[in-house]
Amino acid sequence: MLLDKSILELLTGYKNKSIDPVDVINEAYGQIDKYSSKLNTLITVRDKQEVLDFLKTLDSSLPLYGLPYILKDSYATTELRTTCASKILDNYLSPYDATVHKKLKEAGAILIGKGNQDAWGHGASTENSDYGMGKNPWDPTRVVGGSSGGPAAAVATRMCAFAIGEDTGGSIRNPAAWNNISGLRVTYGRVSRYGCVAYASSMDTVGPFGKTAADLAIILKVIAGPDVYDGTSAPHEVPDYNLELTKTPNKLKIGIAPEMFGAGLDQEISNNAQDFASKLAELGHQLIDISLPVAEISDAAYYILAPSETSSNLGRYDGIRYGNTRDLFTQESMRRIMVGTYELSSGYYDAFYRKALKIRTLLIKTFQKAFEQCDVILLPENPIMPPKLGDLISDPLANMLADLYNTPVSLIGSPSLVIPSGFHKNGLPIGVQLVGKKFSESLLLGLGHQYQQVTEWHTRSPQL
Ligand code: GLN
Repeated sequence: MLLDKSILELLTGYKNKSIDPVDVINEAYGQIDKYSSKLNTLITVRDKQEVLDFLKTLDSSLPLYGLPYILKDSYATTELRTTCASKILDNYLSPYDATVHKKLKEAGAILIGKGNQDAWGHGASTENSDYGMGKNPWDPTRVVGGSSGGPAAAVATRMCAFAIGEDTGGSIRNPAAWNNISGLRVTYGRVSRYGCVAYASSMDTVGPFGKTAADLAIILKVIAGPDVYDGTSAPHEVPDYNLELTKTPNKLKIGIAPEMFGAGLDQEISNNAQDFASKLAELGHQLIDISLPVAEISDAAYYILAPSETSSNLGRYDGIRYGNTRDLFTQESMRRIMVGTYELSSGYYDAFYRKALKIRTLLIKTFQKAFEQCDVILLPENPIMPPKLGDLISDPLANMLADLYNTPVSLIGSPSLVIPSGFHKNGLPIGVQLVGKKFSESLLLGLGHQYQQVTEWHTRSPQL
């Protein structure tokens, strides 16, 4: 398939006329027609003729010329409705574009659809969607992961060249691992959040999904940078992530914390991460024991802070200014609004919210100390393999525990790259997390690229 090719191969093919972008777009729509409704991958698909007409207007020298992409449905777009997977916004058409979408459009990429997700970002499975539970392309009886499950499955099934997710507490990382693709949670502030439906504003990040770390580097270069519309976007210079890919040294110190490989972690996932570490050692990197006694407290703090923030953010959907009535919130969102409101109310604020903030500061210090000893921290991604459809939605606690390795990274604002690292004996894919200091995206992508040069896990796609 043309969409098995890397972004660089596609762009080079367009330039020397060996590949026609029209064929790539047709191929993407062919995959959408075959699999999107079966797997509940996309919520809205853009009219193909409109896309082909738009392609004709584009300057072929643009950096992402003609690449079809999918956005998580949490991004405001003027071309397609933005539902955030909730019937509250069922027919909401935004009068403006999210910055990430605007930048991609200006770079010549073409939006072809909006991906399914857990409504409002609440979940780790895409089961909490008002548009059908997302199914995993590797085994459609299992969850696709979440909350950005649709965009991840769209990349895995070759419905697009790349996709954009959103990660608050793991929403890019979890489905990247469960779909055998690469995904990047960026440093908080690296990419503008303007036009992204807010979940927990102090942790929300905008990031790419792709087949490889090299693909992510190309996309990140376009979407990163400050934005006058987002006061939390970082003024730091945007490196040429693509050029930097090969500059990552192969003598990095890779930190591994035994505490993060304890109870609750599937044994095969644990072994897989050890194999991954051995591969890095073969490449010349040094493995270092570090201490990170944070697993339990991170999840607890995250699940106080995130509901508190979302209870406030979702207040704007009052059914008066826009959107439908509030009784259309899912069970999961209702639970979070109730919990968050409780934690922020007088008397409970100090007992819960303030305490969680203190834990957050403690985590930042703990990680700072760890990063004095190592350059990158290796963590498992998911503690479990994708459960059967219906299992997580009926067990809210298990749903939260699925984020065990994600929430510490979200709370400290660090970047984390997830890449495919092998397969479980049940045939499903496994991924690992490479966590770095703030703004170390180049280093992480370079390390991921080194690994992908000597392994072939990332080349496998689901046989549907
Ligand atoms: N599963 C996490 C949650 O439900 C993460 C969601 C996200 O990153 N949007 O909060």
